[in-house]
Amino acid sequence: MESDSRPTMEALKKMDEEDRLNWTRGEFEIPSVKACGGDGDGEAIYFCGNSLGLLNKKARQHIMEELEVWSTSSVTGHFSHPYSRPWKHVDRPLTPHLAKLVGATEEEVAHTSTLTSNMHNLFTSFYRPTTKRWKIVIEQGSFPSDWYAVHSHPRLHDAVLSPEQIEEAIIPLKPREGEETLCTEDILKVIEENKDTIAIVWLPLVQYYTGQLFDIAPLAKKSHEIGALIGLDLAHGIGNVDCKLDEWNVDFAVWCTYKYLNAGPSAIGGMFVRSGLDDKGKRLAGWWGNDAATRFKMEPEFRPTPGAKGYQHSCTPVLSSIPLLATLELIGKVGFSAMREKAIRLTSTLETLLRSSEYYVPLSESSRTTKDVGFTILTPEQPWRGTQLSVFITGGEEVMPRVFGRCLKKGLVGDERRPNVIRLSPVVLYNTFEDVGRAVEIFEQAIKAEREGEAGGSENGDEQRDVIGGDGP
Ligand SMILES: *Cc1c(COP(=O)(O)O)cnc(C)c1O
Repeated sequence: MESDSRPTMEALKKMDEEDRLNWTRGEFEIPSVKACGGDGDGEAIYFCGNSLGLLNKKARQHIMEELEVWSTSSVTGHFSHPYSRPWKHVDRPLTPHLAKLVGATEEEVAHTSTLTSNMHNLFTSFYRPTTKRWKIVIEQGSFPSDWYAVHSHPRLHDAVLSPEQIEEAIIPLKPREGEETLCTEDILKVIEENKDTIAIVWLPLVQYYTGQLFDIAPLAKKSHEIGALIGLDLAHGIGNVDCKLDEWNVDFAVWCTYKYLNAGPSAIGGMFVRSGLDDKGKRLAGWWGNDAATRFKMEPEFRPTPGAKGYQHSCTPVLSSIPLLATLELIGKVGFSAMREKAIRLTSTLETLLRSSEYYVPLSESSRTTKDVGFTILTPEQPWRGTQLSVFITGGEEVMPRVFGRCLKKGLVGDERRPNVIRLSPVVLYNTFEDVGRAVEIFEQAIKAEREGEAGGSENGDEQRDVIGGDGP
Protein backbone atom coordinates (compact mmCIF):
# COMPACT_ATOMS: atom_id res chain seq x y z
CA MET A 1 0.00 0.00 0.00
CA GLU A 2 1.24 3.48 -0.93
CA SER A 3 2.23 5.54 2.06
CA ASP A 4 0.32 8.55 0.67
CA SER A 5 -2.96 6.60 1.09
CA ARG A 6 -2.28 6.69 4.81
CA PRO A 7 -4.95 8.82 6.54
CA THR A 8 -3.47 11.72 8.52
CA MET A 9 -4.43 12.45 12.12
CA GLU A 10 -6.54 15.34 10.82
CA ALA A 11 -8.40 13.02 8.48
CA LEU A 12 -9.01 10.57 11.34
CA LYS A 13 -10.39 13.31 13.59
CA LYS A 14 -12.69 14.35 10.79
CA MET A 15 -13.94 10.77 10.47
CA ASP A 16 -14.84 10.89 14.17
CA GLU A 17 -16.65 14.19 13.78
CA GLU A 18 -18.70 12.89 10.89
CA ASP A 19 -19.41 9.55 12.50
CA ARG A 20 -23.08 9.04 13.45
CA LEU A 21 -22.09 6.73 16.31
CA ASN A 22 -19.48 9.03 17.86
CA TRP A 23 -21.73 9.64 20.90
CA THR A 24 -21.56 6.06 22.22
CA ARG A 25 -18.05 6.54 23.65
CA GLY A 26 -19.55 9.02 26.11
CA GLU A 27 -21.60 6.14 27.57
CA PHE A 28 -18.45 4.44 28.88
CA GLU A 29 -15.83 5.05 31.56
CA ILE A 30 -12.44 5.15 29.83
CA PRO A 31 -9.49 3.99 31.97
CA SER A 32 -6.51 6.28 32.55
CA VAL A 33 -3.00 5.83 31.18
CA LYS A 34 -1.61 5.86 34.71
CA ALA A 35 -3.91 3.27 36.23
CA CYS A 36 -3.10 0.94 33.32
CA GLY A 37 0.60 1.19 34.16
CA GLY A 38 1.70 3.95 31.77
CA ASP A 39 3.43 7.27 32.18
CA GLY A 40 1.51 10.47 31.69
CA ASP A 41 -1.99 11.78 32.09
CA GLY A 42 -5.15 11.32 30.16
CA GLU A 43 -7.19 8.43 28.87
CA ALA A 44 -5.65 5.18 27.78
CA ILE A 45 -6.15 3.89 24.26
CA TYR A 46 -8.04 0.81 25.26
CA PHE A 47 -7.80 -1.87 22.54
CA CYS A 48 -8.44 -4.79 24.89
CA GLY A 49 -12.24 -5.05 24.78
CA ASN A 50 -11.84 -8.52 23.28
CA SER A 51 -10.62 -9.58 26.72
CA LEU A 52 -12.55 -7.32 29.11
CA GLY A 53 -15.02 -4.73 27.85
CA LEU A 54 -15.20 -1.32 29.56
CA LEU A 55 -17.67 -0.17 32.18
CA ASN A 56 -20.86 1.29 30.76
CA LYS A 57 -21.93 4.26 32.92
CA LYS A 58 -25.48 2.93 33.07
CA ALA A 59 -24.13 -0.42 34.28
CA ARG A 60 -22.53 1.40 37.23
CA GLN A 61 -25.89 3.02 37.93
CA HIS A 62 -27.76 -0.29 37.72
CA ILE A 63 -25.32 -1.97 40.11
CA MET A 64 -25.76 0.85 42.62
CA GLU A 65 -29.54 0.46 42.31
CA GLU A 66 -29.30 -3.27 43.00
CA LEU A 67 -27.20 -2.63 46.11
CA GLU A 68 -29.80 -0.14 47.26
CA VAL A 69 -32.61 -2.67 46.73
CA TRP A 70 -30.61 -5.30 48.59
CA SER A 71 -30.04 -2.85 51.41
CA THR A 72 -33.61 -1.58 51.72
CA SER A 73 -35.81 -4.45 50.48
CA SER A 74 -33.60 -7.48 51.07
CA VAL A 75 -35.31 -10.77 50.19
CA THR A 76 -38.43 -9.07 48.89
CA GLY A 77 -36.34 -7.75 45.98
CA HIS A 78 -36.83 -11.17 44.40
CA PHE A 79 -40.50 -10.40 43.85
CA SER A 80 -41.03 -6.69 44.20
CA HIS A 81 -38.40 -4.36 42.85
CA PRO A 82 -38.56 -0.54 42.79
CA TYR A 83 -36.77 -0.50 39.39
CA SER A 84 -39.00 -3.21 37.93
CA ARG A 85 -36.24 -5.83 37.73
CA PRO A 86 -37.36 -8.48 40.25
CA TRP A 87 -34.40 -10.77 40.88
CA LYS A 88 -36.50 -13.87 40.40
CA HIS A 89 -36.71 -12.97 36.70
CA VAL A 90 -33.58 -10.90 36.32
CA ASP A 91 -32.88 -12.57 32.97
CA ARG A 92 -36.20 -11.47 31.48
CA PRO A 93 -35.09 -8.08 30.15
CA LEU A 94 -31.86 -9.67 28.87
CA THR A 95 -32.99 -12.69 26.84
CA PRO A 96 -34.81 -10.84 24.03
CA HIS A 97 -31.63 -8.86 23.31
CA LEU A 98 -29.40 -11.94 23.55
CA ALA A 99 -31.68 -13.97 21.28
CA LYS A 100 -31.55 -11.24 18.67
CA LEU A 101 -27.76 -10.95 18.88
CA VAL A 102 -27.18 -14.66 18.30
CA GLY A 103 -29.97 -15.09 15.74
CA ALA A 104 -32.22 -17.36 17.78
CA THR A 105 -35.64 -17.43 19.39
CA GLU A 106 -35.97 -16.46 23.06
CA GLU A 107 -36.87 -20.01 23.98
CA GLU A 108 -33.54 -21.22 22.55
CA VAL A 109 -31.49 -18.91 24.78
CA ALA A 110 -30.57 -19.07 28.48
CA HIS A 111 -28.62 -16.49 30.43
CA THR A 112 -26.82 -18.57 33.03
CA SER A 113 -23.58 -19.82 34.60
CA THR A 114 -20.25 -19.30 32.81
CA LEU A 115 -18.88 -20.32 29.44
CA THR A 116 -16.87 -23.44 30.27
CA SER A 117 -19.48 -24.71 32.73
CA ASN A 118 -22.18 -24.21 30.14
CA MET A 119 -20.07 -26.14 27.67
CA HIS A 120 -19.81 -29.06 30.11
CA ASN A 121 -23.51 -28.84 30.74
CA LEU A 122 -24.41 -29.17 27.06
CA PHE A 123 -21.73 -31.76 26.30
CA THR A 124 -23.22 -33.87 29.09
CA SER A 125 -26.53 -33.90 27.23
CA PHE A 126 -25.40 -33.92 23.61
CA TYR A 127 -22.16 -35.86 23.59
CA ARG A 128 -23.63 -39.38 23.64
CA PRO A 129 -20.87 -41.51 22.15
CA THR A 130 -21.31 -45.01 20.77
CA THR A 131 -18.52 -47.43 19.87
CA LYS A 132 -19.07 -46.38 16.22
CA ARG A 133 -19.52 -42.62 16.59
CA TRP A 134 -17.57 -41.00 19.38
CA LYS A 135 -15.06 -38.48 18.02
CA ILE A 136 -14.95 -34.73 18.62
CA VAL A 137 -13.44 -32.29 16.11
CA ILE A 138 -11.77 -29.19 17.59
CA GLU A 139 -8.98 -26.88 16.45
CA GLN A 140 -5.53 -27.73 17.69
CA GLY A 141 -5.01 -24.06 18.55
CA SER A 142 -8.31 -23.67 20.42
CA PHE A 143 -8.63 -21.73 23.66
CA PRO A 144 -7.25 -24.04 26.38
CA SER A 145 -10.49 -24.20 28.33
CA ASP A 146 -12.33 -25.59 25.30
CA TRP A 147 -9.49 -28.01 24.62
CA TYR A 148 -9.46 -29.32 28.22
CA ALA A 149 -13.25 -29.50 28.30
CA VAL A 150 -13.64 -31.63 25.16
CA HIS A 151 -10.83 -33.95 26.25
CA SER A 152 -12.56 -34.60 29.55
CA HIS A 153 -15.83 -35.92 28.10
CA PRO A 154 -14.81 -39.15 26.34
CA ARG A 155 -13.25 -40.29 29.64
CA LEU A 156 -16.65 -40.06 31.33
CA HIS A 157 -17.86 -42.75 28.94
CA ASP A 158 -15.38 -45.50 29.73
CA ALA A 159 -18.22 -47.97 30.16
CA VAL A 160 -18.88 -47.57 26.41
CA LEU A 161 -15.51 -46.56 24.95
CA SER A 162 -12.32 -48.58 25.06
CA PRO A 163 -9.11 -46.97 26.37
CA GLU A 164 -7.89 -46.82 22.73
CA GLN A 165 -11.06 -45.07 21.62
CA ILE A 166 -10.74 -42.55 24.44
CA GLU A 167 -7.16 -41.97 23.37
CA GLU A 168 -8.24 -41.35 19.75
CA ALA A 169 -11.41 -39.39 20.52
CA ILE A 170 -10.15 -35.92 19.63
CA ILE A 171 -9.57 -34.93 15.99
CA PRO A 172 -7.43 -31.77 16.04
CA LEU A 173 -7.76 -29.33 13.14
CA LYS A 174 -4.45 -27.83 12.04
CA PRO A 175 -3.64 -25.04 9.59
CA ARG A 176 -1.69 -25.94 6.46
CA GLU A 177 2.07 -26.09 6.78
CA GLY A 178 3.41 -22.56 7.22
CA GLU A 179 -0.09 -21.04 7.60
CA GLU A 180 -1.81 -19.58 10.63
CA THR A 181 -5.54 -19.88 9.97
CA LEU A 182 -7.81 -22.73 8.90
CA CYS A 183 -9.40 -23.14 5.46
CA THR A 184 -13.07 -24.11 5.35
CA GLU A 185 -12.34 -26.68 2.62
CA ASP A 186 -9.75 -28.37 4.86
CA ILE A 187 -12.21 -28.62 7.74
CA LEU A 188 -14.84 -30.05 5.36
CA LYS A 189 -12.27 -32.59 4.22
CA VAL A 190 -11.49 -33.69 7.79
CA ILE A 191 -15.22 -34.10 8.47
CA GLU A 192 -15.63 -36.14 5.28
CA GLU A 193 -12.62 -38.35 6.06
CA ASN A 194 -14.03 -39.18 9.48
CA LYS A 195 -17.67 -39.19 8.51
CA ASP A 196 -18.63 -42.41 10.25
CA THR A 197 -16.99 -41.69 13.59
CA ILE A 198 -17.58 -37.99 14.41
CA ALA A 199 -20.13 -37.23 17.13
CA ILE A 200 -19.55 -33.47 17.53
CA VAL A 201 -17.82 -30.71 15.59
CA TRP A 202 -16.83 -27.95 18.03
CA LEU A 203 -15.67 -24.58 16.63
CA PRO A 204 -15.35 -20.94 17.62
CA LEU A 205 -17.25 -18.31 15.63
CA VAL A 206 -14.23 -15.98 15.96
CA GLN A 207 -10.87 -17.50 16.90
CA TYR A 208 -9.44 -15.91 20.05
CA TYR A 209 -5.78 -15.93 18.92
CA THR A 210 -5.87 -15.22 15.19
CA GLY A 211 -9.16 -13.30 15.06
CA GLN A 212 -10.36 -15.53 12.21
CA LEU A 213 -14.10 -15.62 11.57
CA PHE A 214 -15.34 -19.08 10.58
CA ASP A 215 -17.79 -19.76 7.76
CA ILE A 216 -20.29 -21.71 9.82
CA ALA A 217 -23.14 -22.44 7.39
CA PRO A 218 -21.31 -24.97 5.14
CA LEU A 219 -19.64 -26.56 8.18
CA ALA A 220 -22.98 -27.04 9.93
CA LYS A 221 -24.48 -28.47 6.76
CA LYS A 222 -21.63 -30.93 6.37
CA SER A 223 -21.71 -31.93 10.05
CA HIS A 224 -25.40 -32.79 9.77
CA GLU A 225 -24.93 -34.65 6.48
CA ILE A 226 -22.58 -37.10 8.13
CA GLY A 227 -24.81 -37.47 11.21
CA ALA A 228 -22.88 -35.33 13.70
CA LEU A 229 -23.87 -32.30 15.77
CA ILE A 230 -22.17 -28.92 15.57
CA GLY A 231 -21.55 -26.72 18.62
CA LEU A 232 -20.09 -23.20 18.71
CA ASP A 233 -18.07 -21.14 21.14
CA LEU A 234 -19.21 -17.53 20.74
CA ALA A 235 -16.81 -16.00 23.30
CA HIS A 236 -15.20 -13.71 20.71
CA GLY A 237 -18.19 -13.67 18.38
CA ILE A 238 -21.12 -12.36 20.39
CA GLY A 239 -21.45 -8.58 20.13
CA ASN A 240 -18.55 -8.57 17.66
CA VAL A 241 -19.82 -10.11 14.41
CA ASP A 242 -23.12 -11.18 12.87
CA CYS A 243 -24.34 -14.40 14.37
CA LYS A 244 -27.18 -16.44 12.87
CA LEU A 245 -27.42 -19.65 14.85
CA ASP A 246 -30.87 -20.62 13.55
CA GLU A 247 -30.14 -19.72 9.95
CA TRP A 248 -26.85 -21.63 10.05
CA ASN A 249 -28.59 -24.55 11.76
CA VAL A 250 -26.19 -24.78 14.69
CA ASP A 251 -27.16 -27.31 17.38
CA PHE A 252 -25.86 -25.67 20.52
CA ALA A 253 -23.61 -22.80 21.56
CA VAL A 254 -22.15 -21.03 24.60
CA TRP A 255 -20.77 -17.55 25.28
CA CYS A 256 -19.46 -15.16 27.90
CA THR A 257 -20.51 -11.54 28.34
CA TYR A 258 -17.39 -9.85 29.73
CA LYS A 259 -15.70 -9.40 26.34
CA TYR A 260 -17.64 -7.48 23.67
CA LEU A 261 -20.77 -7.19 25.84
CA ASN A 262 -19.11 -5.27 28.70
CA ALA A 263 -20.83 -7.08 31.58
CA GLY A 264 -17.77 -6.84 33.86
CA PRO A 265 -14.98 -9.14 35.07
CA SER A 266 -15.99 -12.82 34.99
CA ALA A 267 -19.64 -11.92 34.48
CA ILE A 268 -22.29 -14.47 33.67
CA GLY A 269 -22.38 -16.46 30.41
CA GLY A 270 -25.13 -17.89 28.28
CA MET A 271 -26.10 -20.73 26.02
CA PHE A 272 -28.20 -21.70 23.02
CA VAL A 273 -29.94 -25.00 22.39
CA ARG A 274 -31.61 -25.41 19.00
CA SER A 275 -35.33 -25.91 19.20
CA GLY A 276 -36.11 -29.60 18.63
CA LEU A 277 -32.69 -30.87 19.71
CA ASP A 278 -33.58 -33.86 21.85
CA ASP A 279 -31.45 -34.92 24.81
CA LYS A 280 -33.64 -38.03 25.37
CA GLY A 281 -34.04 -37.12 29.01
CA LYS A 282 -30.30 -36.97 29.69
CA ARG A 283 -29.49 -33.70 31.32
CA LEU A 284 -28.07 -32.24 34.49
CA ALA A 285 -31.05 -30.88 36.38
CA GLY A 286 -31.40 -28.06 38.87
CA TRP A 287 -34.28 -26.05 40.30
CA TRP A 288 -33.74 -23.14 37.91
CA GLY A 289 -34.22 -25.48 34.96
CA ASN A 290 -37.61 -26.43 36.33
CA ASP A 291 -40.69 -24.82 34.82
CA ALA A 292 -40.88 -21.31 36.30
CA ALA A 293 -44.61 -21.76 36.95
CA THR A 294 -44.07 -24.65 39.38
CA ARG A 295 -40.49 -23.94 40.53
CA PHE A 296 -41.50 -22.54 43.87
CA LYS A 297 -43.88 -25.36 44.67
CA MET A 298 -40.73 -27.29 45.53
CA GLU A 299 -42.13 -30.57 44.20
CA PRO A 300 -39.96 -33.70 44.00
CA GLU A 301 -40.52 -34.21 40.26
CA PHE A 302 -38.34 -32.23 37.83
CA ARG A 303 -40.37 -30.63 35.02
CA PRO A 304 -37.97 -28.85 32.71
CA THR A 305 -38.83 -25.49 31.19
CA PRO A 306 -39.07 -26.02 27.43
CA GLY A 307 -35.98 -24.88 25.53
CA ALA A 308 -32.56 -23.74 26.68
CA LYS A 309 -33.79 -22.43 30.03
CA GLY A 310 -34.56 -26.02 31.01
CA TYR A 311 -30.79 -26.57 31.21
CA GLN A 312 -30.22 -23.91 33.89
CA HIS A 313 -29.09 -25.10 37.30
CA SER A 314 -28.93 -22.26 39.77
CA CYS A 315 -30.80 -19.04 40.35
CA THR A 316 -29.43 -16.26 38.14
CA PRO A 317 -26.57 -14.24 39.73
CA VAL A 318 -27.99 -10.73 39.87
CA LEU A 319 -24.82 -8.70 40.38
CA SER A 320 -23.01 -10.31 37.44
CA SER A 321 -26.11 -10.12 35.21
CA ILE A 322 -27.40 -6.62 35.61
CA PRO A 323 -24.37 -4.76 34.17
CA LEU A 324 -25.09 -6.52 30.88
CA LEU A 325 -28.40 -4.74 30.44
CA ALA A 326 -26.78 -1.36 29.76
CA THR A 327 -24.75 -2.54 26.76
CA LEU A 328 -27.55 -4.71 25.38
CA GLU A 329 -29.89 -1.72 25.48
CA LEU A 330 -27.22 0.45 23.88
CA ILE A 331 -26.77 -2.09 21.07
CA GLY A 332 -30.56 -2.17 20.66
CA LYS A 333 -30.61 1.61 20.32
CA VAL A 334 -27.71 1.83 17.87
CA GLY A 335 -28.68 -1.25 15.86
CA PHE A 336 -26.17 -4.05 15.40
CA SER A 337 -25.83 -3.58 11.64
CA ALA A 338 -24.86 0.11 12.07
CA MET A 339 -22.37 -0.95 14.73
CA ARG A 340 -20.90 -3.62 12.52
CA GLU A 341 -20.56 -1.22 9.62
CA LYS A 342 -18.52 1.18 11.75
CA ALA A 343 -16.54 -1.67 13.31
CA ILE A 344 -15.45 -2.79 9.85
CA ARG A 345 -14.27 0.75 9.06
CA LEU A 346 -12.38 1.06 12.36
CA THR A 347 -10.54 -2.23 11.91
CA SER A 348 -9.86 -1.57 8.23
CA THR A 349 -8.38 1.82 9.15
CA LEU A 350 -6.13 0.11 11.70
CA GLU A 351 -5.12 -2.41 9.05
CA THR A 352 -4.38 0.31 6.45
CA LEU A 353 -2.17 2.20 8.89
CA LEU A 354 -0.33 -0.90 10.03
CA ARG A 355 0.22 -2.22 6.51
CA SER A 356 1.62 1.07 5.30
CA SER A 357 4.15 1.15 8.15
CA GLU A 358 7.82 0.89 7.24
CA TYR A 359 8.09 -1.90 9.84
CA TYR A 360 5.36 -4.05 8.30
CA VAL A 361 6.30 -7.23 6.45
CA PRO A 362 3.77 -9.51 4.74
CA LEU A 363 3.07 -12.78 6.56
CA SER A 364 5.33 -15.52 5.23
CA GLU A 365 7.01 -18.74 6.26
CA SER A 366 10.03 -16.79 7.48
CA SER A 367 7.94 -14.62 9.86
CA ARG A 368 8.74 -17.00 12.72
CA THR A 369 12.44 -17.26 12.07
CA THR A 370 13.63 -13.86 10.84
CA LYS A 371 15.90 -11.89 13.15
CA ASP A 372 14.65 -8.57 11.76
CA VAL A 373 12.49 -6.68 14.22
CA GLY A 374 9.19 -5.73 12.61
CA PHE A 375 5.66 -7.05 12.50
CA THR A 376 3.06 -8.78 10.40
CA ILE A 377 -0.67 -9.49 10.75
CA LEU A 378 -2.06 -13.00 11.31
CA THR A 379 -5.72 -12.08 11.09
CA PRO A 380 -7.44 -12.76 7.75
CA GLU A 381 -8.72 -9.89 5.63
CA GLN A 382 -12.27 -8.64 5.69
CA PRO A 383 -14.80 -10.37 5.66
CA TRP A 384 -13.20 -13.29 7.53
CA ARG A 385 -12.56 -11.49 10.77
CA GLY A 386 -14.22 -9.40 13.48
CA THR A 387 -12.83 -6.39 15.30
CA GLN A 388 -9.48 -7.77 16.39
CA LEU A 389 -6.19 -7.74 14.52
CA SER A 390 -3.53 -10.12 15.81
CA VAL A 391 -0.17 -8.53 15.24
CA PHE A 392 2.78 -10.91 15.10
CA ILE A 393 6.06 -9.32 16.23
CA THR A 394 9.09 -10.63 14.34
CA GLY A 395 12.72 -10.72 15.43
CA GLY A 396 12.64 -13.35 18.18
CA GLU A 397 10.46 -14.29 21.12
CA GLU A 398 12.04 -11.78 23.48
CA VAL A 399 10.89 -8.84 21.35
CA MET A 400 7.09 -8.98 21.74
CA PRO A 401 6.97 -8.57 25.56
CA ARG A 402 9.29 -5.57 25.26
CA VAL A 403 7.18 -3.97 22.52
CA PHE A 404 4.09 -4.65 24.59
CA GLY A 405 5.68 -3.04 27.66
CA ARG A 406 6.68 0.04 25.65
CA CYS A 407 3.13 0.41 24.28
CA LEU A 408 1.64 0.16 27.76
CA LYS A 409 3.99 2.83 29.05
CA LYS A 410 2.61 5.20 26.42
CA GLY A 411 -0.99 4.32 27.20
CA LEU A 412 -1.81 1.75 24.49
CA VAL A 413 -3.55 -1.18 26.16
CA GLY A 414 -3.70 -4.20 23.88
CA ASP A 415 -3.12 -7.71 25.09
CA GLU A 416 -0.27 -10.07 24.61
CA ARG A 417 -0.29 -13.71 23.65
CA ARG A 418 3.10 -15.23 24.08
CA PRO A 419 5.32 -15.88 22.36
CA ASN A 420 4.82 -13.36 19.55
CA VAL A 421 1.36 -11.84 19.33
CA ILE A 422 -0.21 -8.58 20.45
CA ARG A 423 -3.95 -8.46 19.89
CA LEU A 424 -5.40 -5.04 19.10
CA SER A 425 -9.16 -4.60 19.14
CA PRO A 426 -10.59 -1.15 18.41
CA VAL A 427 -14.06 -1.64 19.87
CA VAL A 428 -16.86 0.09 18.01
CA LEU A 429 -18.84 1.32 21.04
CA TYR A 430 -15.99 3.21 22.70
CA ASN A 431 -12.94 3.53 20.42
CA THR A 432 -12.44 6.31 17.87
CA PHE A 433 -10.61 6.72 14.57
CA GLU A 434 -8.24 9.05 16.40
CA ASP A 435 -7.54 6.23 18.89
CA VAL A 436 -6.59 4.06 15.91
CA GLY A 437 -4.15 6.70 14.63
CA ARG A 438 -2.57 7.27 18.03
CA ALA A 439 -2.32 3.53 18.67
CA VAL A 440 -0.35 3.01 15.47
CA GLU A 441 1.96 5.94 16.31
CA ILE A 442 2.72 4.43 19.73
CA PHE A 443 3.13 0.96 18.29
CA GLU A 444 5.52 2.15 15.55
CA GLN A 445 7.61 4.08 18.09
CA ALA A 446 7.87 0.91 20.17
CA ILE A 447 9.07 -1.14 17.18
CA LYS A 448 11.49 1.61 16.18
CA ALA A 449 12.95 1.75 19.70
CA GLU A 450 13.42 -2.04 19.61
CA ARG A 451 15.16 -1.85 16.26
CA GLU A 452 17.48 0.81 17.49
CA GLY A 453 18.14 -1.14 20.67
CA GLU A 454 17.05 1.63 23.03
CA ALA A 455 16.89 0.82 26.72
CA GLY A 456 13.61 0.75 28.56
CA GLY A 457 11.63 -1.94 26.77
CA SER A 458 11.34 -4.65 29.34
CA GLU A 459 12.07 -3.33 32.82
CA ASN A 460 8.50 -2.74 33.84
CA GLY A 461 6.81 -5.02 31.39
CA ASP A 462 5.96 -7.84 33.75
CA GLU A 463 4.81 -5.54 36.50
CA GLN A 464 2.54 -3.69 34.10
CA ARG A 465 1.15 -6.93 32.81
CA ASP A 466 0.21 -7.85 36.36
CA VAL A 467 -1.67 -4.57 36.62
CA ILE A 468 -3.74 -5.04 33.48
CA GLY A 469 -3.75 -8.82 33.43
CA GLY A 470 -2.20 -9.14 29.99
CA ASP A 471 -2.73 -12.88 30.19
CA GLY A 472 -6.45 -12.61 30.94
CA PRO A 473 -9.20 -14.23 28.87
C1 LIG B 1 -12.75 -16.09 26.90
C2 LIG B 1 -12.91 -17.49 26.45
C3 LIG B 1 -13.27 -18.50 27.35
C4 LIG B 1 -13.44 -18.20 28.81
O1 LIG B 1 -14.15 -19.19 29.49
P1 LIG B 1 -14.77 -18.92 30.94
O2 LIG B 1 -15.44 -20.18 31.26
O3 LIG B 1 -15.69 -17.72 30.82
O4 LIG B 1 -13.65 -18.60 31.87
C5 LIG B 1 -13.44 -19.79 26.85
N1 LIG B 1 -13.27 -20.07 25.55
C6 LIG B 1 -12.90 -19.10 24.66
C7 LIG B 1 -12.71 -19.45 23.23
C8 LIG B 1 -12.69 -17.80 25.10
O5 LIG B 1 -12.31 -16.87 24.24
